[in-house]
Amino acid sequence: MSEKVGVYICHCGTNIAKIVDVKEVARWAGEQEHVAIARDYQFMCSSLGQDLIEEDITTLGLTRVVVASCSPHMHEKTFRSACERAGLNPFFCEMANIREHDSWITDDRQAATLKAKSLTKAAIERVVRHQPLEPIPVHINPNTMVIGGGIAGISAALELAEGGFHVYLVEREPSIGGHMAQLDKTFPTLDCSACILTPKMVDVGQHPNITLLTYSEVEAVDGYLGDFVVTVRKKARYINEETCTGCGICIEKCPFKVVDSKFDVGLGERKVIYRPFPQAVPKYPVIDTENCVYFQRGKCKACQLFCPTHPNSIDFEQKDELLEIEVGNVILATGYNLFDCSQIPQYGYGRLANVFTSLEFERMVNASGPTSGRIVMRDMETPPKSVAIVHCVGSRDKNYHEYCSKVCCMYSLKFAHLIHERLPATEVYNFYIDIRTPGKGYEEFYHRLMDEDVHFIRGKVAEITDIARSPEENGKLIVQAYDTLFGAQRRIPVDMVILSPAMEAYRDSKEVAQLFKMGCDFDGFFVERHPKLDPVATMTDGVFIAGACQGPKDIPDSVSQGAAAAARVAGLISRETVMMEPVRASIDTDACSGCRICNNLCPYNAIEYDTVNKVSTVVTSLCQGCGTCVAACPSGIITGAHFTNEQLMAQIEGLLWDVRPNGGNGKTKAPEPEMAPA
Ligand SMILES: Cc1cc2nc3c(=O)[nH]c(=O)nc-3n(C[C@H](O)[C@H](O)[C@H](O)COP(=O)(O)OP(=O)(O)OC[C@H]3O[C@@H](n4cnc5c(N)ncnc54)[C@H](O)[C@@H]3O)c2cc1C
Repeated sequence: MSEKVGVYICHCGTNIAKIVDVKEVARWAGEQEHVAIARDYQFMCSSLGQDLIEEDITTLGLTRVVVASCSPHMHEKTFRSACERAGLNPFFCEMANIREHDSWITDDRQAATLKAKSLTKAAIERVVRHQPLEPIPVHINPNTMVIGGGIAGISAALELAEGGFHVYLVEREPSIGGHMAQLDKTFPTLDCSACILTPKMVDVGQHPNITLLTYSEVEAVDGYLGDFVVTVRKKARYINEETCTGCGICIEKCPFKVVDSKFDVGLGERKVIYRPFPQAVPKYPVIDTENCVYFQRGKCKACQLFCPTHPNSIDFEQKDELLEIEVGNVILATGYNLFDCSQIPQYGYGRLANVFTSLEFERMVNASGPTSGRIVMRDMETPPKSVAIVHCVGSRDKNYHEYCSKVCCMYSLKFAHLIHERLPATEVYNFYIDIRTPGKGYEEFYHRLMDEDVHFIRGKVAEITDIARSPEENGKLIVQAYDTLFGAQRRIPVDMVILSPAMEAYRDSKEVAQLFKMGCDFDGFFVERHPKLDPVATMTDGVFIAGACQGPKDIPDSVSQGAAAAARVAGLISRETVMMEPVRASIDTDACSGCRICNNLCPYNAIEYDTVNKVSTVVTSLCQGCGTCVAACPSGIITGAHFTNEQLMAQIEGLLWDVRPNGGNGKTKAPEPEMAPA
């Protein structure tokens, strides 16, 4: 092996150089086998740093490059491109992560310097065994699937459709709109949620570039960036969408009004043939078969009897449809659920009638909601004379969710304003831990509320009870909290309590993530490719995320993310063909015994069995290079390109250079260096 390796040790400002003796690592690297030049530099990722590499490749004839700096997640592409510009195959570059894996995790300068050497040595030993690889061109199907029809998904779908690209928008509920459709006013401007949302919903429903699939769910996903095949179950509505005019007579004539409305979070009822809310898109109703008398007992058919369309639009025989849809990219915008407040029994939700959740209050205060906008207690008649709003229910609480749900302070302030607006004599108490109002116009809204005579009590609520200790507490809910500003326990008797629950990851987010081979964080939210620099991409190429499925978010942020994800997809579509990493598995079919162990293990269904030759083969375009088959093959005849056994063993040998008797690879172990001052 007569390779000429250039080694570049990055200071990363003081991120690395403060802990690692970078000069010593560069000096030592220069003495290693294969190494033609070793340098240290302030910022290798800067243009000047990259120029340094390019110049050395051309003038010194380097054949391999090692950059010891940050995580390859950050800059592998940067340094591969620098090599490519200088005429070197980009896969002849290897990174050693001496920041995240070294300088950031210890204060011990000596140990960090030694580890930096080991990581650099491992990279040198590996890179000299690299093979040249060529990226694989992939054609991008211009159609996109957006999953989730809340405001984030709507924004993404409309951006793409307006750009001339076709979108399949898949929503599991009978209508698009998501949580925003349930809200009354939106903070901080207090504009009516439905008034700003419905035009967008209508645009989606009528857009020639959008195929709307409501009451539908994704069941399976195959393929890869540019060429996904998604199986969607379109559930039977029992309505013929070709002929239904959405006149609503079937709903009117249905004699049964038995079911709590999910849209009104149980505060109102709906018929068994129903449209979730008046502005629903699409306009077609849906039959709830679990409660429909015809489906349960074979009698009734009132809806069909009164349907004025010809042919009749009620179709009791309709079946679920399974659609196979081919798309190039996918945007997940599946939103959130709210924390179940009954998990904190001392707050009495579900036990004390007049303890409501924030979403219940949104429906109550909504002019088209179950009380026509009247703020009333559970008897649906009496307005409360006093209301307590409890922030951070299940958020900022180590017992439930440590994170801040970001929107609760603002909507709690909004509620206080709406209560005062409609019931000026009602006392409103906000129980908060801290008021968090980062956002345009948010802090101003908070100041406005302080001028509206709202009471703010800083303290976490310990208990909500109906056990009175004095005559003025009789018949009231008593909210007990330690007031940290006042320095005393407070017992505030009120008529109504509104709990502001945490925003949680959608209940099946883990299953959805699994379908798309991507990850969820500790709390179940989808994991982005990079939290700061790439918040809408995921580790699966061609799959993007937007809105509250990535973490708690308000409407402006959800809209921005929807548009950002759409822009990323549009960028890929406009390139028509993109280059994919050639890191793929391959099977030596001459040696394959046809045991088929790898067939079922592949998470990407990328291995086929050739029944004629009785061997397994890899479908290169489907393979994602995860290495599962390589590890599982009992004969060891599957190779992962760029991760061959030889390369990995050499990397391990390199890593262990300082504990090998002779310093590894025929070199004498270097004596411990004198440390230069930090
Ligand atoms: C009480 C309350 C008041 C609020 N008030 C405000 C306010 O005034 N101003 C503000 O800016 N924000 C407010 N918010 C926050 C706001 O609700 C969110 O920012 C917004 O709804 C996030 O939109 P989204 O599209 O990401 O998610 P969602 O609105 O949750 O929409 C997600 C959609 O995806 C669908 N879905 C989920 N899983 C699947 C699947 N597997 N397949 C197909 N479809 C799926 C869901 O049915 C839903 O329609 C409030 C929140 C609450 C709880």
